[in-house]
Amino acid sequence: MVIMNGKEVSKLRNEELKQKIDASIKKVGRAPSLAVILVGDDPASHIYVNSKVRQAKEVGINSTDIKLPESTSSKELADLIKKLNDDDNVDGILIQLPLPKHIKEGDMLDLVDPNKDVDGFSVLNQGKLFQNRDSILSATPKGIINLIDHYKIELEGINATVIGRSLIVGMPMAKLLLNRNATVTTCHRYTKNLVEHTKNADLIVVATGQKHLIKKDMVKEGVIIIDVGINREGNKIYGDVDYENVKEVASYITPVPGGVGPMTISALLENVYEVFSKKFQIK
Ligand code: NAD
Repeated sequence: MVIMNGKEVSKLRNEELKQKIDASIKKVGRAPSLAVILVGDDPASHIYVNSKVRQAKEVGINSTDIKLPESTSSKELADLIKKLNDDDNVDGILIQLPLPKHIKEGDMLDLVDPNKDVDGFSVLNQGKLFQNRDSILSATPKGIINLIDHYKIELEGINATVIGRSLIVGMPMAKLLLNRNATVTTCHRYTKNLVEHTKNADLIVVATGQKHLIKKDMVKEGVIIIDVGINREGNKIYGDVDYENVKEVASYITPVPGGVGPMTISALLENVYEVFSKKFQIK
């Protein structure tokens, strides 16, 4: 069994990215820049934003976090997004989700300039993905594909089961696996007899937010397990997979923490560089 070490792999990718950024700063005369918007007091969101901003700085991205109070109105947030869209010195914009309940997330994501949409959540970027056109990919599924590629796992022809169908993880993940010629099954909370689909899978990506949903007796010997779940209990984080038991039968498995999480951040930073290099036509 191989533990897919997202922490190590993302470190390697970030080092490579830093070199590319250093070289491009010499050509362009300034660093790529990222604006991160955080609205409200969600403690987990604060942890994620601080981590993204810190790691962005480490690779040479000039990042600004804009922290707004819970009481921020949709109009105020919309005005800020438009201002950042118009600011030539801002290359990437990220809105940390979830937003407070009184703000419609979709409406705000739609306002982000698709060329600055480093999360790949805009209708345009998601539509392009589903039409097999060049697009900015959502960071989590992109990071997962990077991790799978690092371990040279062949996807063509395999049975892949994706559990979860959110627009930010499950759906784009299924499409990226389809693009690699896997046979993909998507499961969700209304799926009857989930185990039928997990037992048949050569690869399982699980993104449900249900602690230890996937147990050893639900998978086949040699399965590849990608666990996206983040379930907090006190100071501890658990995945959607009963890791200690499932690892006995898996051929590859991601730990939580230290698997998908760091790969997501490195994919996000790569997206920032991607929009920057496109803007300044850096080959
Ligand atoms: P979401 O709540 O939008 O979607 C959850 C999906 O899981 C839904 O499609 C739902 O139908 C499905 N689901 C829920 N219970 C189920 C069950 N019992 N059986 C089958 N399907 C079930 O969540 P999301 O935004 O896609 O995130 C999923 C999880 O991944 C969360 O724990 C989140 O914190 C985590 N996450 C981690 C990263 C990372 O970088 N590691 C990134 C994004 C999300």
